[in-house]
Amino acid sequence: MAQKLGVRRLPRQTGIAGWDAILGPRAPFATLEGHRICDVVVIGGGFAGLSAVRRLRQLDPRASVAVIEAGEIGKGAAGRNSGFMIDLPHELTSEDYAGESSASDRSLIELNRHAIGFARQAVEEYAIPEGYFRHEGKVNGAVSEHAHAQNVAYAAHLASLNEGCEMLDAQAMQALTGSAHYRSGLYTPGTVMLQPAGYIRGLAGGLSHGCAIFENSPVCELVQQDRGWSVQTSRGRIDTGAVILANNGHLESFGFAKGRLMHIFLFASMTEELSPNALQRLGGATNWGVTPSDPMGTTMRRISAAQGGNRIITRTVARLRPGMAASAGDVAAAARVMRGKFDKRFPQLADVGMEYSWAGHLCLAYNGTSIAGRIDRDLYAACVCNGLGTTRSTLAGIAAAETVLGHQGEVTDYFAAQPMPQRLPPRPLAEIGANLFIRWKEWRAYNE
Ligand SMILES: Cc1cc2nc3c(=O)[nH]c(=O)nc-3n(C[C@H](O)[C@H](O)[C@H](O)COP(=O)(O)OP(=O)(O)OC[C@H]3O[C@@H](n4cnc5c(N)ncnc54)[C@H](O)[C@@H]3O)c2cc1C
Repeated sequence: MAQKLGVRRLPRQTGIAGWDAILGPRAPFATLEGHRICDVVVIGGGFAGLSAVRRLRQLDPRASVAVIEAGEIGKGAAGRNSGFMIDLPHELTSEDYAGESSASDRSLIELNRHAIGFARQAVEEYAIPEGYFRHEGKVNGAVSEHAHAQNVAYAAHLASLNEGCEMLDAQAMQALTGSAHYRSGLYTPGTVMLQPAGYIRGLAGGLSHGCAIFENSPVCELVQQDRGWSVQTSRGRIDTGAVILANNGHLESFGFAKGRLMHIFLFASMTEELSPNALQRLGGATNWGVTPSDPMGTTMRRISAAQGGNRIITRTVARLRPGMAASAGDVAAAARVMRGKFDKRFPQLADVGMEYSWAGHLCLAYNGTSIAGRIDRDLYAACVCNGLGTTRSTLAGIAAAETVLGHQGEVTDYFAAQPMPQRLPPRPLAEIGANLFIRWKEWRAYNE
């Protein structure tokens, strides 16, 4: 009997994605209507999905490929993040971002740099504006002595990996950011800072010359055929030889990895455009990115005209939401916390308003693994970003595309060696426990 996979939940975005909004409107992609046929359908138009398409077309330029995105390209999590495309180990569940061992960290760095190189080539090929993909590095900011010690430990770990970094003192941090909040900072040069919505728009625009892209077309059912699948949306259908699910946590909505994925929402706020007077009071450099030395702390970023305006973006607060949606109340509560974090760092900008606040869905596995490869006959996944999807989902998309075409390499090997995401404890205990744990970690990260 033909297997039918009904889709239990569709993505819901809460709050306006500031990165997309500041770029202004763009020409929309079509909605899927009627009946079509193609070689590969990719479900999801984020980092994973679009990278999969690019890799498919690199390996087989004759393959006909379609992307189906539930919402609008650039308005999902791919356009809601802070835009740090990080090359180094950035283990969010650790105390200081270091990974399990030096050997695993070394190979992860090489893979992350492979993803960055893949993205850089796309930027060049599709003439994506330079300001959307800047090789500028980032700083791990520290406020407390404890956080500074974490930075020192991380610097030693990087030295053991032969990775360069530079410790900045409080004065240097203020000269960079305009904020007297930080005690020190650890600068690492390899991170690319994205205008995430700009990069995703550019990638989709470049790919649209050889592949069909549909948006506002949520997939509601997959029906297995003798060969391949029939992919159903409310107004159209595509029969295809292979499907790549590149929809991150919504893999579970298609019936896979049930009870194994943690659906986390992160929140961000973006200021209004800073006036010349506010810019003078702020001081500092025009572009910088500060991640917290404690992974549960606050990320700050300053952007300028080349990214869509002179603004500061604050990211903090994480909430587990197994229903895969954040409420308007969640965003409002997070926005209040973010305002407080901003004011602590920039008391000189107390009159500056937050123009946009939003939530974004990401997906973690308890054991930090992703799912990239074959999951059923003619069905593949590039999912479970573990919070670092600018690089990890780019790699997952590459791996899924290579697997579809029977190509084996270091990226497919990396994902093939990963175990399944570990099963989570039963609800609701797990949910209450995880949210309490997150809040405790946030409280402990306090000023960071
Ligand atoms: C506030 C915030 C800050 C972050 N900061 C960073 C950062 O600095 N660096 C970093 O690396 N990561 C960061 N992240 C995480 C990053 O955004 C994600 O890891 C990344 O977007 C995952 O990419 P993806 O392509 O796997 O999934 P997504 O970007 O979520 O794309 C999946 C797509 O699938 C679509 N989809 C789902 N179901 C269906 C369906 N039924 N039919 C059709 N389409 C469907 C969705 O609409 C979505 O667009 C942050 C996230 C947030 C929210």
